[in-house]
Amino acid sequence: MVQKKENIVMFPFMAQGHIIPFLALALHIEQTRNYSITFVNTPLNINKLKQSLPPNSSITLLEIAFDSSDHDLPPNSENCDALPYSLVIKLLKASTSLRPAFKELVSDIICKCHGERPLCIISDIFFGWTASVARELGVFHAIFSGSGAYGLACYYSVWTHLPHNKIDSDHHEFVLPDFEEASKFHVTQLPLSMLEADGTDSWSVFQCQNLPEWVNSNGVLFNTVEVFDQLGLMYFKRKLVCPVWPVGPVLLSLKNRAKVGKEGGVSPEFCKEWLDSKPVNSVLYISFGSMNTINKSQMMQLAMALESSGRNFIWVVRPPIGFDINSEFSANEWLPDRFEEKISNRGLLIQKWAPQVEILSHKATSAFLSHCGWNSVLEALIHGVPLLGWAMAAEQFFNVKFLEEELGVCVEVARGKTCEVRHETVVEKIELVMNETEKGKEIRRKVFEVKEMIENAMIDEEENKGSSVKAMDDFFNAAISMKEKMIKIKREEDNNGI
Ligand code: UDP
Repeated sequence: MVQKKENIVMFPFMAQGHIIPFLALALHIEQTRNYSITFVNTPLNINKLKQSLPPNSSITLLEIAFDSSDHDLPPNSENCDALPYSLVIKLLKASTSLRPAFKELVSDIICKCHGERPLCIISDIFFGWTASVARELGVFHAIFSGSGAYGLACYYSVWTHLPHNKIDSDHHEFVLPDFEEASKFHVTQLPLSMLEADGTDSWSVFQCQNLPEWVNSNGVLFNTVEVFDQLGLMYFKRKLVCPVWPVGPVLLSLKNRAKVGKEGGVSPEFCKEWLDSKPVNSVLYISFGSMNTINKSQMMQLAMALESSGRNFIWVVRPPIGFDINSEFSANEWLPDRFEEKISNRGLLIQKWAPQVEILSHKATSAFLSHCGWNSVLEALIHGVPLLGWAMAAEQFFNVKFLEEELGVCVEVARGKTCEVRHETVVEKIELVMNETEKGKEIRRKVFEVKEMIENAMIDEEENKGSSVKAMDDFFNAAISMKEKMIKIKREEDNNGI
């Protein structure tokens, strides 16, 4: 008899930054385990995903009904990509209305499988409510965090305590009451939504409902590595009293990345040729991720720093804050006079989208000036590239703190979208990391240690499994054991005629 495959239901929040790590996890599970996967999302996102799945994938894409116009959002806004930042919170709030439809959808799956439940539901950090739906249906539930544990621990702690509101107005530093290990924070290390939060604003109200729901989950999967992210992992073990499974890094392969990325400003081949022409460890790569940009004056100062540093660089440029991010980049308007001419031999400006992993994996790349979104961080560390941190939003400020203070693989350059930036300071920081300074050497030594930790965590040999492979085993064992327990209970109830 052919044994039926266990089914896993996966449900990310409707934003590329969430859908992509979930897709990476789904493909990773598909390749390494014999499970079938149902990937749930709203119709427009499912439509887009159809083009992103490799042709031989057996992942089932399943629509959950959603109409943005019912939630005071512009029509067809089913993804943060399609929304200005100010409306993201509206989409988050609207997503809580999916609860009854999600419960029905999972019940339908159970019904179609003649009462057999999915092995587990893996759902988003913004969908805390799915944990109680899973409980009601007797299904194992895990949250999957595309962020690292330290960054998310700070995020969880700040939202649940708003500690910056409890300090005197002339003090600017605070500690997290339930995460003292993370030492001091400065108010400038908070993203705008947190800084402005007073407990009654929309973000606070949303998080006050969402985060406490996590305790109903059976555990949290993290896209991180156990050995370097202990502090954050311990925080969640303590806070939620549940297992945490550091299974990372789970990233899309180059082939699959090409399908989900945006239209590129240059081809990977052109980029490679350009990098091939540069000496080993000589290029600084600069990018602020998939959705962020800096302000006009910051852009000017960064350009001046690149001009005066004399270093080779690749810079992914987007129109500054206040201009349509998808419009044409105007070097005449936003960069110093004759900038492109002056740097033409050693600088490459890429509009919109660069082949980031190809760049980070090239031997000519020496350092990465990044907003420190967690995917970018993992992609840098896995290739042993040290970071210059310039956080923009969300938990990125905490990632920079973690990378600088705990791992020693990063130097902070600037903070946020409004801070004043001086080109002299940027040059100093670039030199600190890229030059043969004591600090530069130390950072490179540490980043190679971290690279090795990541490689060890990913070893997948029968007799010698790395921590991330073991964590994935533990996660599935926990799900299987709960399912067996549920089946036993059901059988006993049936026997007793309950
Ligand atoms: N990325 C890319 N080219 C770009 C900008 C971003 O390939 O020009 C990819 C990058 O490799 C990473 C993702 O987009 O996988 C960005 O994710 P991250 O978590 O770093 O930041 P976010 O975009 O979510 O702020």
